[in-house]
Amino acid sequence: MTHPQSNGQVNGPSRTDQTAIVIGAGLSGIRMMYELNKRGVSGKCLEAGAGIGGTWFWNRYPGARADSEVWVYILTFLEEIGYDWDWKERFPSQPELESYFNGVVDYLGLRDNFFLNTRVKSARYDDSKNVWHVSTSQGDEYTCDFLITATGPLSTPLKPPFVGLDTFKGQWLQTALWPDQKVDFTGKRVGVFGTGATGAQIIPLIAHAAKQLTVFQRTPNYVLPGRNFVFTKDQERELKKDFKGIAQRVRAQPFGGDMVGTTRVSSDVKNKEALNQIFDYGWEQGGFRYIFNTVNDMLTNVDCNEAASEFIRQKIRAIVQDPATAEALCPYYPLMSKRPPLGHFYYETFNRPNVELVDLRKDPVQKITPNGLQTLAKEFDLDIIVFGIGFDAVTGTLNSIDIRGAGNKPLKDHLECDLGTGYGIATTDFPNFFMILGPQSAWANLPIVIDTAADWIGKAISHMQERGHNRIEAKKELTRSWTEEVDKHFWGTLLGKGAQETGAWHVGGNVDGKPLRCYWYFGGIPRYLELCAKEVESGYPGFTFSNALQAH
Ligand code: NAP
Repeated sequence: MTHPQSNGQVNGPSRTDQTAIVIGAGLSGIRMMYELNKRGVSGKCLEAGAGIGGTWFWNRYPGARADSEVWVYILTFLEEIGYDWDWKERFPSQPELESYFNGVVDYLGLRDNFFLNTRVKSARYDDSKNVWHVSTSQGDEYTCDFLITATGPLSTPLKPPFVGLDTFKGQWLQTALWPDQKVDFTGKRVGVFGTGATGAQIIPLIAHAAKQLTVFQRTPNYVLPGRNFVFTKDQERELKKDFKGIAQRVRAQPFGGDMVGTTRVSSDVKNKEALNQIFDYGWEQGGFRYIFNTVNDMLTNVDCNEAASEFIRQKIRAIVQDPATAEALCPYYPLMSKRPPLGHFYYETFNRPNVELVDLRKDPVQKITPNGLQTLAKEFDLDIIVFGIGFDAVTGTLNSIDIRGAGNKPLKDHLECDLGTGYGIATTDFPNFFMILGPQSAWANLPIVIDTAADWIGKAISHMQERGHNRIEAKKELTRSWTEEVDKHFWGTLLGKGAQETGAWHVGGNVDGKPLRCYWYFGGIPRYLELCAKEVESGYPGFTFSNALQAH
C-alpha cells in the first residue's frame, strides 16, 4: 500500500518538554494549537501523517469533499485572526481543504510546532511527577503537563476482511489511505466495496473513467443529492458579508448547520401530496436540508420518517431505469439510522452501461481470487479493487495508542468497559488529559464541536494557571451524568433503534466485537454549547483541581 508522500517536514528533537502535546494535525489539532498559542501555552503537535490536514490529508480519493457547506465548515477563529480563505464551491473538495489547512498553519506561524511523520505509540501519566510521558514509534520521548488527543473520529480505516486478498494480482486500494499519485482507472475493470458517504462520492467518478465498474453493495443507503455548485465572486462576497449571522445560526441549529429549520410537523400538513411537496423542496435544496428544513418530526415520528424514506425510494425508482437495480438500491430501514451520504449523480450512475450493482445480501463474496473475486453466483475479473468500507470510529484511534492514566489504567479498558466522559472532552482517572471529538462529543457538523472543545480546554488550562493548580480530573459524577444525558437523547428514540438494527458506525455496530453503545451526543448543538459553557461559568463543578506535587 502506497501512502501519501511527505510534504517535507521532519521529526523534531529526540526529547522535548512541553506544556502541552497535541496528537493529530487535522482540523482539531490545528484549532487546539491556535488556542494554546493564543493563551501563551507552549505546545507541540505530533502527527502520524506526512502532511497537515488529518482526514483531508489521508482521504485523497477522487470525489472526496466535505458534506458540510463551506460557510459552516470554517473555523470561527479565522475571522478573529483575519485569515481570508478563497471559497470555490458550496461543498469544498479535499484538495481545497488540504490547502486551506496548510494556509491556516502558515498564516498563524505555527508550522514549526507541527512534527509530521511522528506516530504516537504510547502516553503514560506519571503519578509521582504529575507529567505525561509520550513515546513515538520513531523512538522519540517527550514529557508534557497536558496531553490532548485530536486524533479524529474517523481515522482508523477497517482492513478489508476478505479471504484471498493477498493472492490478488491487480491493485487494491483503501479510500482512507489513498496514494498521493493519481490512480488511473482508464480502461480498467474496477470493483468498489462500500456504499456509505465515501462510496457515494467515489463511485460516480470511477464510473466515468473505468471500462467496467462493479459496485458490491451490502446495505443500500439513502443518498441525498448534494447539489454542489461553483461560486461566483458575488455569491462568495455575499456569503462572507454575513459571517456573523452564519456563526449565530450554526450555534442555534441542532446539527450545527446554517439552516433555520422549521416548527412544522407532519400532522400540520393537510395530505400526503402536500407532504411530498415539502420533501421535494428539501430534496431540491440539496445537502442535509432534506432532513432539517422540511418537517420537524422526521427523526421522532415513525410515520413521518417512513413517509420521508418512501419519498427517497420513489426518487430512486424514478431515476434508476432497471427496476431490479432500483429495488436493490432502496433501503427499508428508517432514514438517519445510518448517516446518510450526499451524492452527486449517484443513482444516475447505475444507468450507465458500464456499471453493475451486485447485492451482496443475495450473492455474498466467497473469496478474492488472483484475477478478481468470486461471489456465490458468479466470478468477476477485476484489475482494481477499491475499499471504502468504513472506520473503527471514535475510539478506534484512541485505542490504537497505549494511553495510561493514573495508576497505569489503560484508556482502552476504560473506553471499552466503563465508557463515560464529560462532554466528550475529559474522563475520570486521566488527569490533565483532554480529548477533542472524544467519545460522547456532540453529533453535528464538526467544526463547531471542535471549536467548542478547544475553547473549553483552553479556558480550563488558563483557569488552572491563574489559580496555581496543576492537576485537573473529571469527577465520576460528571461522567455518569453525561452518559445518562447521552443515552437519554439516543436510546429509545427512532435513531437509536435504527442505528442498532443497521449496525451503524456511530454505535460501533460496524466493527465485530465492539461494544454497542452511543458514541455521540445527540442532544443538539444549542444544548451542548449551553452545558459546556455552564460548566465553565459555574466554576467547573464536574472537575477536581489540585496541586498534585504538594499532594505527593
Ligand atoms: P461507512 O459509512 O461505515 O460505510 C462503509 C460501507 O462499507 C457500508 O456500505 C458498509 O456496508 C460497507 N462494508 C463494510 N464492510 C463490508 C464488507 N465486509 N463487505 C461489503 N461491504 C462492506 O463508511 P464511510 O463511507 O467511509 O463513511 C463513514 C463516515 O465518514 C460517514 O458516515 C461520514 O460521517 C464520514 N465521511 C464524511 C464525508 C464527507 O463529509 N464528505 C465523506 C466520507 C465519509 P454495511 O452498511 O452493510 O455495513
